[in-house]
Amino acid sequence: MNATIILGMLCVHLLCFCVMFLLISTRLNDRKMGTDVFAAGHLLLGLAYCLQLLGGAPGWGVMSVVNHTLTLCAPVAYVLGAIRFFDRPVPVWTPLLTVAGLYTVAQLLVQATLGTEARHALLAGSCAVLFLGMTVALLYGMRTFARDLRVEMALFSVMIGGICVLNAAKFVMILTKGLPALDMNSGFQMVFYLYMSFLGTVLPPAAVWLVLSRLVDQLRVLAVKDPLTGLLNRRGLVEGLAAHFRSRMAGSAYLLMVDIDHFKQINDVHGHQVGDAVLCRVAQTLKHTARQGDLVCRLGGEEFVVIALNTDHGGAVRLAERMREAAASSRVSGDHPPEPVRCTVTIGISLDFTGAEALDEVMQQADTALYRGKAAGRDRVEWAPAV
Ligand code: GH3
Ligand code: MG
Ligand code: MG
Repeated sequence: MNATIILGMLCVHLLCFCVMFLLISTRLNDRKMGTDVFAAGHLLLGLAYCLQLLGGAPGWGVMSVVNHTLTLCAPVAYVLGAIRFFDRPVPVWTPLLTVAGLYTVAQLLVQATLGTEARHALLAGSCAVLFLGMTVALLYGMRTFARDLRVEMALFSVMIGGICVLNAAKFVMILTKGLPALDMNSGFQMVFYLYMSFLGTVLPPAAVWLVLSRLVDQLRVLAVKDPLTGLLNRRGLVEGLAAHFRSRMAGSAYLLMVDIDHFKQINDVHGHQVGDAVLCRVAQTLKHTARQGDLVCRLGGEEFVVIALNTDHGGAVRLAERMREAAASSRVSGDHPPEPVRCTVTIGISLDFTGAEALDEVMQQADTALYRGKAAGRDRVEWAPAV
């Protein structure tokens, strides 16, 4: 198998993966995670290698200039795609077109002053520097912005470090041996394109795996959160409770059922939007008043559940009182009428429990206590009587 066949297969790989990234990006409406830019990078590199196949021996001509510009722009596109993957907004087309324009001018200047060899050396040297920068960025990312992807970052940095070394070697070989160093059937070119082919096969599925794992993480978070308030939903509450009681150190817990008083009236007088703002304000108040580790959940409508973990009856009552007072003193600005909207909450407290399977029972106890509080005039804390 010679380098031309390897290069041909690499072109097919790159163009197929380009289509795959494009298809994935069309399914990710709001947050494409750089997949559209990865598609562009694969297209650029695939086209560059197609031109190399069609262009024959290395030399000087329009096709060669375009090929070099595309070859350099491809890793730039990968870098921009990676930046987007990590949720940093970055423009793509302006930097890509700027690099393409500047590099074409640089090529023409080098060709006119130093000749064809120097122009080929420029590409190998520029790619080596670019891949070195990518390797350093990946190693930096392992310790900072991508700590959760430490293993993946390490593997990527080793693979991209390899192509950096090969480009540096190519740069030195062109300077020492001239254009024959680029003979497609030389041992070095075989190794170079075999390695590129390896990267072209391994890196795109690895990038897809990263995108998929991010998506799964997002779905997992969405599945346990209430979209309006950002608190846990009932599923999140059940999972959190199960996780707490899995620990052998887990102490007893109390369930606090929190219900906003006369909330329908707030909606009726101020409108649904202000009602939503009141829900969010109460949610934040409960979250900030709860102790770290306690579970705070919006059960639905204007009902919330707080699980006070590792506490006793006195601790649960004190927490509920703090929550009631904090809710009563918080304000949301109203539109019509414009005065600040205030609300109160009534809280029912269950008996203590020590297992997640008791959830339904303690909810019932807290609910009964809550409605006793409603009947007794609201803005109160009531608890289930000890049995
Ligand atoms: P009580 O003091 O007895 O608890 O009376 P209440 O008005 O708070 O309770 P009720 O159950 O009569 O009304 C609850 C209202 O909550 C009715 C419903 O339209 C409103 N609601 C439920 N979900 C939402 C929501 O997501 N946003 C808004 N703005 N209102 C909601
Ligand atoms: Mg209510
Ligand atoms: Mg209610």
